[in-house]
Amino acid sequence: MVSINDLLERIKKYNPNANTDLIRKAYDVAERIHKSEKRASGEPYIVHPLIVAFYLTDFEMDDASICAALLHDSIESGYKLDLLKQNFGEEIASLVDGLTKLTELKAKGRETYQLESIRKMILASANDIRIIIIKLADKLHNMQTLQHLPKEVQKRIASEAMEIYAPIAYRLGIEKIKRQLEDIAFKFLEPEKYREIDEKIQKNKNARMSIIEKLRTLLEKELKTQGIDCRVIGRLKSHYSIYKKMLKKNRTFEEIFDVVALRVITKNVDDCYKALGIIHAMWTPIPKHFKDYIAMPKSNFYRSLHDIVIDQKGTIVEVQIRTEEMDKVAEYGVASHWAYKEAVTDKKFDKKLSWLRQIMDWQQDVKTAKEFVEMLEVDFFKDQIYVFTPKGKVIELPKGATPIDFAYAIHSDIGDHAFGAKINGTFATLRQELRTGDVVDIITSKQQTPKQDWLKIVKTVKAREKIRKYLQEHGKIPIKTKKGETKEEQELRKQTLISVQGIKNQIIKLAKCCLPLPGDDIVGFASKSKVISIHRKDCNQIRNLEKGPKRKVTVSWQTDFKSVVELKVDAIDRVGLFADILNTIAATGTNVERANAKVIGNDMAECTFQIKFEDLDHMRDLVSRIKRIKDIKKVWLSKVGV
Ligand code: MN
Repeated sequence: MVSINDLLERIKKYNPNANTDLIRKAYDVAERIHKSEKRASGEPYIVHPLIVAFYLTDFEMDDASICAALLHDSIESGYKLDLLKQNFGEEIASLVDGLTKLTELKAKGRETYQLESIRKMILASANDIRIIIIKLADKLHNMQTLQHLPKEVQKRIASEAMEIYAPIAYRLGIEKIKRQLEDIAFKFLEPEKYREIDEKIQKNKNARMSIIEKLRTLLEKELKTQGIDCRVIGRLKSHYSIYKKMLKKNRTFEEIFDVVALRVITKNVDDCYKALGIIHAMWTPIPKHFKDYIAMPKSNFYRSLHDIVIDQKGTIVEVQIRTEEMDKVAEYGVASHWAYKEAVTDKKFDKKLSWLRQIMDWQQDVKTAKEFVEMLEVDFFKDQIYVFTPKGKVIELPKGATPIDFAYAIHSDIGDHAFGAKINGTFATLRQELRTGDVVDIITSKQQTPKQDWLKIVKTVKAREKIRKYLQEHGKIPIKTKKGETKEEQELRKQTLISVQGIKNQIIKLAKCCLPLPGDDIVGFASKSKVISIHRKDCNQIRNLEKGPKRKVTVSWQTDFKSVVELKVDAIDRVGLFADILNTIAATGTNVERANAKVIGNDMAECTFQIKFEDLDHMRDLVSRIKRIKDIKKVWLSKVGV
């Protein structure tokens, strides 16, 4: 059995400056709180938080996470959050609070709720990624002690692990926990199939191990002879991974089990490709099986080369080749990023390996905006909320959304007649801000119609559009179409951000000297070739221009402008910058068509976003939100109508 001293020793190995007094204090408090409780196994309860904290040392997590792990069940056992805050400070208290809320949230989740949404919901409600990692460690230990619980409970907890937590671990790239969760869950969910596979593994294990070991040594020796500094690992496949492959590829146990899996771990990327060449000279590659996840990382940060070869005796060998660092990422996923990010005092972590820089490096290889957004999802979730209809359907909304947004998300009829709402069974106004996990029931009335002030409350573009449309159709707000225009002309005009008095078919250029933004007072200068440069009225070039050959023209922002615009943002490069901007955009319910970022100069980043705007107000609102983000230096429009 592990003790608090074992834990402290493990921590000191990776963090010599750990606050051992604080950790010991957390342990003492937890032990006192759980004193009268026992685990189902009969062991004292404190064993559980202690082991959860112990697992976190694998991820080299910080003092706050370790303390939060030790205290993670304390609130449920009667410890007061205020007291926790007093004794351990804001950071630890907020981690423990997050973990407690996650438990409450899960209790609300019914079987009928869509699994994917529950996963998202869990990710969203944990505003600190450390909460999820602690939760996964908690889950892992609960799974490892599952045999002590009653049969019906076993099944429920196992399927929860398989369907909710293992995929979360996968998405965050924490293979180490994902693999264990799946294997244990498999054992409880499909006991017969598990036993069948287990018997076969035990029977063939020794023979297999010796073949693996032989090929492993052979390969390692060859690579080293050829000057590759590396280590080669051979391993048996896990029960569940064999089972999954049997199902997916419709193969027999032997066909899967007889494949030898080797992993080459090198010191640098170059050596990965060199090793691949050496392996191909040694053994015969099977065509079409090579995959380069180094150049094209998976969305969960996984990077590695994959290939399948056959040795002289006909043994099929699956090889994975990656660097030490990639291996760490493959096992620990975001948790390893987290370690890089936080270990500021530790010189061995290269600070340049920031979240942002990696995203930007990888982005070059990611083909579509969708993939890109998937990659960012973890951060992205932070500004989304997930609420339920009374029937258990999950509705995804931006943070700050109200029952009106919810009503329009369901159906515009419900939105138009929304009169009030019940949130978690309690009457609420249409203004009340919704929170993840809320069950929302909209009360409608035939007499109710959309109100003008709703426009100020709603957060989604959809609701705003519908409300505006209704108000326009019923003459409550003016329709801004100009008379005598054909539909085509109207469409065309909507694509132009700026209208110029008396000139048609002009080319608009936003002046580089003052970079006008929507809402700024502007003036145009027309050249003979119909190019009109737009300046801010307070631009210091105006005086010179007025003396020049160009004609001064009256220009104005088009309010019902509707087109894709390219927005550029210059900022001081820092961890999480890109995600912050995307979050801000997502929070307004706006879709980003393309996003991209690059480093300029020493510590500056230039981010580019192509965004489809609904109108000028929309753009103005978004620009002002982006400007308020920390470290943003400049926001400007680089292209209109892309
Ligand atoms: Mn627990």
